[in-house]
Amino acid sequence: EPGMASAGDEVLRRLETAGYQAFYVGGCVRDELMGRPVHDMDIATSAEPAQVMELFERTVPTGLAHGTVTVLLAEWSFEVTTFRKETGYKDHRRPEEVEFVDAVDEDLKRRDFTMNAIARSLDGQLFDPYGGRGDIERGWIRCVGKPEERFEEDALRMLRAVRFASVFGFKPLTSLWRGLLQCRDGMAYIAVERIRAELERIVLGPRPVRGLELLRRSGLLLPAKAPLPPAASRPGADGLDGLAELAGLTALPADEPALRWSWLLQVLRVAAEEAEPLLRSWTFPGVLTRQVTALLYIEEAVGELLEAGTEPAGDAKVPAGRGLDGGVLEQWRRYWVYLQLTFGKDAAALWLRREAGRLSAGPEAESEGAEKTKRAVFLAEAAKWHQTVPVHKVTDLALTAGEVMSGSGRRGGPWLGELMKELLEQVAAGDLENDKAVLLQAVKERLNDGQESN
Ligand code: ATP
Ligand code: MG
Repeated sequence: EPGMASAGDEVLRRLETAGYQAFYVGGCVRDELMGRPVHDMDIATSAEPAQVMELFERTVPTGLAHGTVTVLLAEWSFEVTTFRKETGYKDHRRPEEVEFVDAVDEDLKRRDFTMNAIARSLDGQLFDPYGGRGDIERGWIRCVGKPEERFEEDALRMLRAVRFASVFGFKPLTSLWRGLLQCRDGMAYIAVERIRAELERIVLGPRPVRGLELLRRSGLLLPAKAPLPPAASRPGADGLDGLAELAGLTALPADEPALRWSWLLQVLRVAAEEAEPLLRSWTFPGVLTRQVTALLYIEEAVGELLEAGTEPAGDAKVPAGRGLDGGVLEQWRRYWVYLQLTFGKDAAALWLRREAGRLSAGPEAESEGAEKTKRAVFLAEAAKWHQTVPVHKVTDLALTAGEVMSGSGRRGGPWLGELMKELLEQVAAGDLENDKAVLLQAVKERLNDGQESN
């Protein structure tokens, strides 16, 4: 962002003009060196928070105790943090005390990895006491200082190492990995939300399989407060079967997180009904939890349907839309409409999108040729049915519950809700036209039938 960079330069310039030292630090310098897009720019300075707040018109005291002031300039915001060192790490988490220091070197020393411990001045000079630039070129993740000590201080750093290895495709040094294996029990102290945030970046990143494989090999999630199912978190051969399917993750777009999360849980053999408590324990937002759960339910239902469905006659390879007798297709269509009504049009669309993504990723398993072909046929048809379902909720009907009551002269009651639901299902399936007169007629017939049989 050129706009952001020049606003950031302005922040550095004002600090320097006032006689302070100021540098870009951390992720933004690293991403610049890697040629990656920079999403936010952190600034480190010798000025203390009060002095920073004096220099700029618009500031937010984000974390004064830790030396952080957010400076707003044009439409951008910058975290400006006083050079500091950290002491008194408690419970393998964040430090208890921070102490402001004079020099940027001291500030870089507290940072986790060499690639994150580089400072850049306004004139473009790099301050790189730990050789971060070289490590970036080699694609290495190296701790600043002794890995065991740094991971003892703050266990989250271990997961950050795995995240960077996953997102950048970098290699953790052997010494780092050894330290990680030694310190992994410290993960028990880290808040689930912070673990989840790193997990999200792994799962939604460009190399999710690499990250998940490192997580499994390290056993890093085993001590976590909300562990993933054993297949994902246990080192050793368990769960390896799932890893081939896991590759499907990469084919799924990351802009709709539910696609990848549902696929991950599916590969880990998490049943739909187990998904909700699991995702909730990981503090996932309700919307995502509901979407993922719906995707798993739809998948289970479709899986059962395709397994139970009549085998296509003769040749197992079925050209899309043909070869299945109308009876089976009609059965599938009705079932799909039912699923769409039950889980909603949006969830159904997500599932279709997920499956289309996986299917286009290539020959996923030759061994299940017939099964896959059937699934491909189902997908192609379902994508069409999905568009044609005329109603999704009772309020989409051309007849209201009130009109049913006045039309039939009956008072409301549980029967009314049931009747409306039946109408909805019939209209959705195409058995009834969504027309007031037609629906009223159907209601009358139904109610008369009920009376005769009583
Ligand atoms: P990104 O923003 O792309 O996730 P980042 O490296 O900027 O990557 P942030 O969490 O924004 O990550 O942290 C900014 C900087 O603060 C890091 O580059 C690093 O120097 C330092 N840092 C962050 N978390 C830790 C930690 N747990 N221990 C030590 N230093 C850390
Ligand atoms: Mg950052």
